[in-house]
Formats: sequence, structure tokens, C-alpha cells
Amino acid sequence: MKFKKIEPPGDGKPITIVGKKLKVPSNPIIPVIEGDGIGRDIMRATRRVVDAAVEKIYGGEKRIVWFDIYAGEAAQEKYGEVLPKDTLDAIRTFIVALKGPLTTPVGGGFRSLNVTMRQVLDLYACVRPVRYFQGVPAPVKSPEKMNVVIFRENTEDVYAGIEWKKGSKEARAVLSFLKNEMKVKIRPDSGIGIKPISVTGTQRLVRKAIDYAIANKRRSVTIVHKGNIMKYTEGAFRDWAYELAQKEYAKQTITEEELFSKRNGQVPEGKIIIKDRIADSMFQQILIRTAEYDVVATPNLNGDYLSDACAAQVGGLGMAPGANIGDFVGLFEATHGTAPKYADKDMVNPGSLLLSAVMMLEYLGWTEAGCAIENAIEKTIIQKTVTYDLERQMEGATKVSTSQYATNIIANL
Ligand code: NAP
Repeated sequence: MKFKKIEPPGDGKPITIVGKKLKVPSNPIIPVIEGDGIGRDIMRATRRVVDAAVEKIYGGEKRIVWFDIYAGEAAQEKYGEVLPKDTLDAIRTFIVALKGPLTTPVGGGFRSLNVTMRQVLDLYACVRPVRYFQGVPAPVKSPEKMNVVIFRENTEDVYAGIEWKKGSKEARAVLSFLKNEMKVKIRPDSGIGIKPISVTGTQRLVRKAIDYAIANKRRSVTIVHKGNIMKYTEGAFRDWAYELAQKEYAKQTITEEELFSKRNGQVPEGKIIIKDRIADSMFQQILIRTAEYDVVATPNLNGDYLSDACAAQVGGLGMAPGANIGDFVGLFEATHGTAPKYADKDMVNPGSLLLSAVMMLEYLGWTEAGCAIENAIEKTIIQKTVTYDLERQMEGATKVSTSQYATNIIANL
């Protein structure tokens, strides 16, 4: 692959796909988008910690070869556009990439740079693990009971961006079609949005969630939907999810219904329970029966709300990690924005990006290095030397800079 303005480093090798699996060399080239605003500070800290952990765990046998690519303000400067072809080509070529937050330019034809990247690269699963880190102030009594991984569908639902403004030519045309052809009356002063949910979109997302549950020996996959009201979209999501589990994973899974109707609640050895919850009930369940939930698969809008609500429950909204994953390509990224008022002040928490890098290491199969970072973060929080956002909520804590926090995490590896 030839790039226009970037050159892949010569001392690394690309990750490849062999037999539907990633083949990761000991020196993989990982493209990295630093990001705008606080991206510069948190990416510097993240790279230092990841490099130190990989060195410590593998003693020089493995190494990440970072490859700087450009999006957002830095791309505007280098290429005269915010999302150059080089960047998308590099992610496609090298398969796994790390990304800081990006400013969404006002005007200029982009709804959001992030959304555009997800759509162009068809990154259909937004994966958000939520667990508790000891020492983090949390609003509930037993935050340690939370350990869920949410798989949110990323390309469909009311988030697909198919909508028309009240009174526009398009909105009037849709209203007239609905009135004349479908005999449905909608107030003429309405804006219109469309909610597509397909078998394809649902089943490839649910497949990812079940595969994850199997690979990580999780106990259950919960389908979260609002199918009691939206029968042909959310209800269909639930039905198609069960159908997939039955068709492709009959040996590895059992439905909750069968578990209680035929097995007296006894889970057969090694089987994963497939269950479903209506979205509003799920928000109660996750608060009061937290430990019963494990892997979650859900349409786009539910997933957006649920992932932030879960993260808030463990006090970790500011350090929640995330990834957007397609069939193979994985873009691992901070879930917060560019917080421009803190840009280049070396003060924000790199936790969200760093934990996304931990997810990335797990995706590469470098689980030991990821674990080492998680443990070191927890130790650093327990020692109460933390960035301002945690310090202001913790009694007796010492406030440190982003770079010092990274240094402390490295010392705790
Ligand atoms: P934001 O950048 O997430 O910042 C909102 C607030 O969250 C900050 O003022 C700060 O709160 C806290 N915060 C965020 N990151 C933090 C960190 N690493 N450490 C500590 N505190 C942190 O949201 P925004 O101000 O609404 O958005 C700014 C820009 O980011 C926009 O252009 C938006 O489009 C973009 N954005 C990008 C992404 C992405 O790239 N994935 C996601 C969301 C938004 P306090 O001031 O209370 O300390």
C-alpha cells in the first residue's frame, strides 16, 4: 500500500488475517491518531505506559511499532482536510489502531468525524467494558459487583442519520406518502426520523457478543430491547438474536427460558445463558441485581444510554474505555471528547484512552500486558495519587499531572 504523505515505519510488521483470525507479529505496526485538544497529553501518557508494560511483561520479545497517522486538526494542517484517505487506508491496511478524541468541525459537511470513520470502515460493534476500580468514588453501595461488556450496534437504529427537518420538502413528502399510501396520520408540524434495524445488522453484532462471551468464559449474554413497544425493530432484534444463538451456537448456549422450564435453573457445564430484558427494566436490574449481568447486546440508542449509565454507576465515566470493531478492523478510542479548555495543560485523566489501549492489547492477544496495566492503574488509584478529576472526589488524595500519573502507573507495573 502506497500512502501520499505518511510512511509506515520500517522496523515493524503488519497484522494479517489468516483463516478468519488475526495473526499478530511480535512487532506489529499500530497506526495511532493522537487526537485534538487533550488528545496530545493523554496519547503521550498512554503510549509511555503501554510501551513500558509490553517491555516489562515480554522482556523485549514483543514491541508495538507506533505509526502516526492524521485526523482532525493535525490532518487539516498536513493535508488540508480533516479525514484524509491515507488515514482510512492505513487503518484498513494495519487492521488495529488507537485513536484520541477529535473535534467535530462545525460545518464542512461532516456530521461527526468519529461517526464518519465508523461508517466508512463499517465498524459495526461499539464495545464498552465497564468494571469497578477499587478506590474510585462511586455512587452505589457495591460498585464492585459491576463487570459488564456492552456490545452496542453502531450503524442502524434512529442513529443512522436518516431524518428530515420539520416543514422540509422531504418531511412533507414522507408525511404525504404515509397519509396517502399507509393511511397513517402524523401532525404536519413534525420532524421525521427513520429507525432501520436489519437481520444483518443485528446478527453480526450478536455474533460478536456471543463469540466474546465464549472466548472470555462469560456466563450470559443479555439482549436488551424495547420490543414490547417497537415490535418490528426492537422486538425483531430480540427474535433475530435468539434465532442466531439457536442456529449457530446451539452447543454453547442455553436460553434462560429453557434453563428454568427444563433444567430447574441448573446451568449445564460450560453453557452460556442467553436472556433478554426490556430496556427500562434493564436500567433497574443493572442497579439492583448488578452481578447477574455479564455481556450485553443491544441496538444503538439503548446501548448509548446504557453504557454511560453503567460507567457512571462505578464512578468511572471519565475513564470509561471503548472500541469500535468491524469484522476484523478495531479502532480503540477514548470515550470522552477533546475537552479543549484543558488542552496541553498536562492535567486530565488519561484513563479512558489507556484502558482502551488495554482492550487493544487484549484484542492482539497480549492479555498479560493489558492485565498488568489494569492492576497498575488500580494500585495507583488506591495510593491516591490521581489526576484532578478523581482528586476532587477523593478524601486525602494528591493531585498529579497527566504525565506524573503515567509515571506512577509505570512504577506500579
Ligand atoms: P468532553 O471533551 O468529553 O469534555 C467534557 C468534560 O468532561 C470536561 O470539561 C471535563 O469535565 C470532563 N473530561 C473529559 N475528558 C476528561 C479527562 N480525560 N479527564 C478528566 N476530565 C475529563 O465533551 P465536550 O466538551 O462536550 O466536547 C468537546 C469536543 O469533543 C467537541 O468538539 C466534541 O464534538 C468532541 N467529542 C469527541 C469525541 C470523540 O472523539 N470520540 C467524543 C465526544 C466529544 P470538568 O471540566 O468538569 O472537569
